[in-house]
Amino acid sequence: MNRDADVVIGGAGIAGLALAGLLAREGRSVVLVDKAPPPRDRVCGEGIMPMGVAVLRELGLEPESIPGHDFQGLEFHTARTVARVPFRPGRNGRGIRRTTLVEALQGTVRDRPTVTAVRDDLTGPVWEKGRIVGLEGRLGRYRGDAVVAADGARSSLLRKAGMRFHERGYRMGLRLHFALPRPLEMEWVRVGLFSPWDVYVTPVSEGELLATTMCDRAAYRRIVTDYPGFLASTPFASLFAGARPASRPLAWHHPLFVPERFTAGGMLAVGDAGGGIDPCLGTGVSFALATAREAARAVAAILDCPAGRPEAENAFEAWRAGLFRHYALFDTVFRSLVTSPFGSEALVWGMRHWPGTAAAITRIVAENAPWHTFPWSSLLRPSWN
Ligand SMILES: Cc1cc2nc3c(=O)[nH]c(=O)nc-3n(C[C@H](O)[C@H](O)[C@H](O)COP(=O)(O)OP(=O)(O)OC[C@H]3O[C@@H](n4cnc5c(N)ncnc54)[C@H](O)[C@@H]3O)c2cc1C
Repeated sequence: MNRDADVVIGGAGIAGLALAGLLAREGRSVVLVDKAPPPRDRVCGEGIMPMGVAVLRELGLEPESIPGHDFQGLEFHTARTVARVPFRPGRNGRGIRRTTLVEALQGTVRDRPTVTAVRDDLTGPVWEKGRIVGLEGRLGRYRGDAVVAADGARSSLLRKAGMRFHERGYRMGLRLHFALPRPLEMEWVRVGLFSPWDVYVTPVSEGELLATTMCDRAAYRRIVTDYPGFLASTPFASLFAGARPASRPLAWHHPLFVPERFTAGGMLAVGDAGGGIDPCLGTGVSFALATAREAARAVAAILDCPAGRPEAENAFEAWRAGLFRHYALFDTVFRSLVTSPFGSEALVWGMRHWPGTAAAITRIVAENAPWHTFPWSSLLRPSWN
């Protein structure tokens, strides 16, 4: 089974589907290859930040029409302190079940005659004259004028292209959905910093919550056999009273790594393939969508003007590296705080008493706002309420 197209995309998760949807709107021919039947479920917090909601709109999707639940900010809890950090008015996030989001993204490519979806386990890139010109699978070869790796964390395509990664450890993630006995109007994602666990509770519909917990392997072993029992022992217990599990529990160890570059042999890396940020920031899906949008621009430039390929690839590389740098700082600081009881307490105490600073930092993270928008004067305005 050999296929040629303008663009070959390896991986049809969030990033691969979003990219295929954007390219299909321009009439580009796309071969989209994935080894698993969609919609593939996986561990996720399922809370999409305002940055990701904005890209869904660019894809022509109305986020409100995708079954889910809006949230207007984050509510941080420790055993002693609570701090609410709102997004800007009108910039909601949205909790959407992962499989529902994948189905919505599939809708953007379904019935597009220029998109061919193929089920195949990709084994590596196809090189020609020092460039990647396609992808090889167990069933065939797929050649394109542009090639994109969207095969998720630990991208085998990038590794096979000879890319080296800086490993930054990993954290375990465990998730379970709960159907509530009565509808709950929960307009905040609750973040419980109960070190050694951080617990993320996202409303994914009026009657359903997702609880995802991240921790190290030793702490994971203590909760995996009775996850509902663990949740009932936290300050979030009342949320789950009378609730019944509404999905299969899923666990995963999420690798934290950064590749040396975000392009290899001309192949662009999008989504988790281009580096693993700690999920505690809740930005992975937004990253996947935003990097797909940027890759769509680079691919369009390459296809329209093949002579401009190096500039287009370099522009993508520079944009992606800037995005990673922007978030690597938050990732390192936030992860080191939330994995210690003292750090968690200090963080939530700080958020409670410096609400302007907390809202500004949240805006920089959730909307990818530039640092120069940070209001330094907010540090001089603590609130002791
Ligand atoms: C515990 C946890 C909590 C999280 N919480 C949040 C959150 O609240 N909000 C948020 O925005 N993000 C969150 N994330 C991150 C988010 O889930 C990911 O960043 C996002 O799913 C990345 O999408 P992707 O398309 O890059 O990768 P994926 O969705 O993993 O897609 C990769 C695709 O590539 C395919 N593939 C892989 N290898 C091959 C191969 N050899 N051949 C063919 N196909 C292949 C796979 O089958 C898959 O379909 C969380 C992640 C974890 C682990």
